[in-house]
Amino acid sequence: MKLDRRQFLRNGAGMAATLSLGGLPELGCSRGAEPASDATVFRGGVVLPVDEGFSEHSALLIRGNRIAGVGSDEAILAEAGTGARIVDLEGRTVLPGFIEPHMHFLLLAGLGHVEDVGPFAQPTFEACLAALRQIRDAARAQGPEAWVMGRQFDPILLEPARELTTRELDEIAPDRPAFVLNASGHIAYVNSRALDAAGIARDAPDPAGGEFGRQADGTLNGVLYGPSAQIPVLMSNPEIQARMNREFVAAGIEVGETAATLGITTLCDQATGVLSGAAELARYREMYAEGRMKARLRAYLYDFHEAPWRGADVRPGDGDALLRVAGLKLVTDGSNQGFTGRQREPYWTRDTLGLYYIDPPVLRDLVERYAAEGWPLSMHGNGDAAIDSILDAVEHARDRGIDVRALRCRIEHCSILHDDQIARIQELGMGPSFLINHVHYWGHVMRDQVFGPEKVQLLDRCASVERVGIPWVMHSDAPVSPLGSLHKIRVAVARDLWKEPGAVLVPSERVPVEAAIRSITRTAAWQCHSEHEIGSLEAGKLADLVVLESDPRKAEPTAISEIRVSETWMDGRRVFQA
Ligand SMILES: [Zn+2]
Repeated sequence: MKLDRRQFLRNGAGMAATLSLGGLPELGCSRGAEPASDATVFRGGVVLPVDEGFSEHSALLIRGNRIAGVGSDEAILAEAGTGARIVDLEGRTVLPGFIEPHMHFLLLAGLGHVEDVGPFAQPTFEACLAALRQIRDAARAQGPEAWVMGRQFDPILLEPARELTTRELDEIAPDRPAFVLNASGHIAYVNSRALDAAGIARDAPDPAGGEFGRQADGTLNGVLYGPSAQIPVLMSNPEIQARMNREFVAAGIEVGETAATLGITTLCDQATGVLSGAAELARYREMYAEGRMKARLRAYLYDFHEAPWRGADVRPGDGDALLRVAGLKLVTDGSNQGFTGRQREPYWTRDTLGLYYIDPPVLRDLVERYAAEGWPLSMHGNGDAAIDSILDAVEHARDRGIDVRALRCRIEHCSILHDDQIARIQELGMGPSFLINHVHYWGHVMRDQVFGPEKVQLLDRCASVERVGIPWVMHSDAPVSPLGSLHKIRVAVARDLWKEPGAVLVPSERVPVEAAIRSITRTAAWQCHSEHEIGSLEAGKLADLVVLESDPRKAEPTAISEIRVSETWMDGRRVFQA
């Protein structure tokens, strides 16, 4: 079903479209005789609907795929009437299904099988090279077409820090292409065979919006900066092409299964169409046509220099409650820990300002055009100069008479925020979306190498924006960091460092656990224009919920990520049970 654009932006009551799962196989619920009632009562636990006042109850009623109400056990049992199915919570805690506001669906589906050679799996450079040699041996056993593939490589977390270039990769794989993706997704490392496969000459000029790493003599060294440099090489691999095409539906359903185990009921894909434009959205539709997807999807169409969506008949709000086009994504700079996020001043240990992927005057024109067409914009900005360029562009659109507040434009990662930028975000009705795991996994290098002790105080300022009432969300950017939502809550509340147990990075930016929960439920729904249907357990909304073994409000902050997901329900059906 198509939604009228103005209706979509207003999110008025009564326009919620749901795709019924009726007639499709049950997703793990009890089977057999027709139930006497379509009511299910969850009782005997802690029910946190994440409503305006963050109220607490002991019971919840759902009817079909909708929330019917919350209250005491007695009141809810009475309201349910006879024949209701009863789920005894036995003290467990119910929250709205988690919303992952920013992840990369295609990368998880298409590259999920590629081996992790990053620092969490291989802590030294030598161990990473050894893993790549094993992958090469396996590729040789597969046949002459098979590439050597790796992901999650991250030189800055290695001791000592070192990059992969054609030198290492040609030595490891002289007979076949090799492609290793950086954990940030913004940099790739390839060998000479891979450059050949993509038809890239050793003296090729930089592509628009990207950069080739070079040797002292100017020839390419195999380091590719930005999607425009990487994608042609990645898509020269026939196996990856197959996974992105004919095998995509099965791979995508697996991503939904993984989300369900983590209590995530909605995934926001932040690069729909990155490889094949409208054909990619068509494959997402196929995935839902199968009826086995266990998570909803909100798609942000990826726009870049080749403009894959130009001429496509797609509007914001197209789709239904399971799969809906939510907005348009622009990427304005690179990654801070890769020293490609665009900064006002040079990096702490490197004399560079980083990269604009989109030059500010071009960004201004793009934002004006898309905002005038009614597209909610999701704009990646890591460095403070990139964030300035986003704010300038949105302000320019507003000054041209466009109601930018209605679009709820988002700044993705929004890693470094000065006070003046927080004030502008508020004035423009925008929302920051923090990659909160930057603090936990990369916090020590952000402080010691990337920003220095002073500027790192401006990293992921959850408490500062919470204090002034700006709606903020947090994301994993999976596969950049792992998909789990409880880990994000832990980091927002504790801001503890992976490499330095006991240390806290910028304690003043820690937030109360309730604020962290709200950011990935209620606020995340608002941010993706879906608050009329998901994000809280309020009557009339869709029955998406997670049952946790224990209450995150009662846990030690660093133990929140250890709480087990006990059950996940999506659209009124149990899609996961531990
Ligand atoms: Zn991303």
